[in-house]
Amino acid sequence: MSMNNDTKTEKSVESRQKIRSSALLDQFGRTFDYVRIAVNEKCNLRCIYCMPENGVPFKPENNLLNPDEIKQLVNILASLGVKKVRFTGGEPLLHNDIIELIQTAAFTPGIRSVHLTTNGVLLKSKISELQDSGLTGVNISLDTLDSEKFEQITRRKNLYNVMSGLDAVLASGRFKTKLNVVVMRNFNEDELDRFVGMTKHRDIVVRFIELMPFDSQQIWKTGKFYGADQIIRDIKNAFPHLVIDKGSRTEHNIYRIPGYRGKIAVIPSYSRNLCGACNRIRITADGKILNCLFSGQETSLIDRLRGGASDGEIAELIKTAMWHKLENGWQAQKTGEEQRNSMTQIGG
Ligand code: SAM
Ligand code: SF4
Repeated sequence: MSMNNDTKTEKSVESRQKIRSSALLDQFGRTFDYVRIAVNEKCNLRCIYCMPENGVPFKPENNLLNPDEIKQLVNILASLGVKKVRFTGGEPLLHNDIIELIQTAAFTPGIRSVHLTTNGVLLKSKISELQDSGLTGVNISLDTLDSEKFEQITRRKNLYNVMSGLDAVLASGRFKTKLNVVVMRNFNEDELDRFVGMTKHRDIVVRFIELMPFDSQQIWKTGKFYGADQIIRDIKNAFPHLVIDKGSRTEHNIYRIPGYRGKIAVIPSYSRNLCGACNRIRITADGKILNCLFSGQETSLIDRLRGGASDGEIAELIKTAMWHKLENGWQAQKTGEEQRNSMTQIGG
């Protein structure tokens, strides 16, 4: 490297370190302004790629963040430049205080949008409270439109409730709405066109997501993985008029069928070729910060919150955790176990 390049590198490291004092940044120049918080671990479904029939060893309630701690973290994160909050789980609509959490996050200075990722089963029953909560967006997880297959994948008979939840969300007209579809070989890859068809009259984004190795039964190893490239090929074959569209910072494969109201996204969550644009911070239900979905390096915040650490000290812990994020998910994976027992521990 020439002297000139050396000086440039030093300067850019110096300037990044300066910014580091006020924002969430890492060594590779990424900034983090989006937090996903798992509010619980429990769920009313048992998706085969996520949880065994008997659940996972759920932690005692007292070991999970309580609502005040969640609100405190949102506040600290907002002071560090976080603008977007997503509540997930487990199933966040099972949390008794979810509406209050959404309201508080929505009113936190600096937070511009609050989102929910839900399996949709309880959506219809909560819709009026959600409408007035300040919630911006709802992602509903739905892998099949066939009631028998729904029962196979979730081990419960709830397709009707999920569809009514989706209808209620769309009828309210208040929320950005997305469907999360985990695509699996020999299970639902033959339903891609039906899901794309849902974008014809509905203002939704249907997101096709790659299966990830986060389940204790390792469904992932049974040949069900169906890659993003293949998904894109399939939908291009079925819809030759598909055009490229724009999405959020980590959604690069966005498409639309001319004349349709909604959009389609393909998320390479396992292939991991979007790590350079990652802006996400993850907080687990038991109060750990995770700087990458695939990382095994967690920093416990709950112990420090309960040990009386100041907001400033918690902010420093968060900054340090994010600063040490590795360059991509492949490197991060080497720091952890090869598999996790369930996505409920991370929130997806
Ligand atoms: N219960 C809520 C739901 O299902 O939307 C929120 C939590 S769930 C863990 C969040 C997301 O993670 C869901 O969209 C789910 O499909 C996804 N997910 C869980 N396990 C997964 C896996 N092994 N591979 C890919 N996605 C997974
Ligand atoms: Fe529950 Fe969501 Fe996991 Fe399915 S993916 S078992 S709905 S937490």
